[in-house]
Amino acid sequence: MAFLKTKGIIIKEVNTGEADKVVTIFTESKGKISAYARGARRPKNSLTASTQFLCYSDFVFFSGKEMYSINSCRLIEHFYNLRNDIIRLTYSAYFAEIINDVVQENEPAMSLLKLFLNSLYLLAAGKHDPRFIARVFEMRLLVLSGYSPDVRGCMACSGTDLDNVSFSFESCGFLCSNCSQTDKSSYKLSPAAARAIQYIAFSDSDSLFGFRVSESVLNELEHVFGRYLSERLEKKYTTLDFLKTIT
Ligand SMILES: [Zn+2]
Repeated sequence: MAFLKTKGIIIKEVNTGEADKVVTIFTESKGKISAYARGARRPKNSLTASTQFLCYSDFVFFSGKEMYSINSCRLIEHFYNLRNDIIRLTYSAYFAEIINDVVQENEPAMSLLKLFLNSLYLLAAGKHDPRFIARVFEMRLLVLSGYSPDVRGCMACSGTDLDNVSFSFESCGFLCSNCSQTDKSSYKLSPAAARAIQYIAFSDSDSLFGFRVSESVLNELEHVFGRYLSERLEKKYTTLDFLKTIT
């Protein structure tokens, strides 16, 4: 029988049978996989603690004919602080939903896994505004998954002045004030928002979250990334809408 040993984080869980679960795991070595967790809903089962939503663990799987099944796992991080705060939990669920849509089965995606884990660690630490973490997560995820807008400068004339650029949803990138005049889809950006977008697209992953923006820039980024993400991934994400009813 073939075994697979890899680290991974649970991004979805579905109950099945009397006490079992089928979990979707974003793993280091295989990208997204589904796995059967036998007995994982029994309180004293050895898999119970490590197969909850968002648990990051070291897994050993049996490779079955149709699906992996979890043989054993050792919990690395349970992100407890995300579970006891409804706002942070909602953002985590939003990140996990997008990750589930973007990551392919059996295709490793280490840079996306690192982005996902870093975003969860920052959310759990509670030092950053979750809205800021979400915007950086959205834009960087688009870049890493091949949906990057062209934000080096004006796409039409190659001008690099960021003080008067718009984001064109039609052309998928920046246009200067001259070149955007006939583009009805373009959205005028403040210089700070244009620089923030460029920073998220091109910074090293280690310093990705190392900048700050004002409330009004966050609003601009939310407008641009929300629409761009939903157009590129062809899906309307409504998970965060719930927060508007409680904040
Ligand atoms: Zn131009």
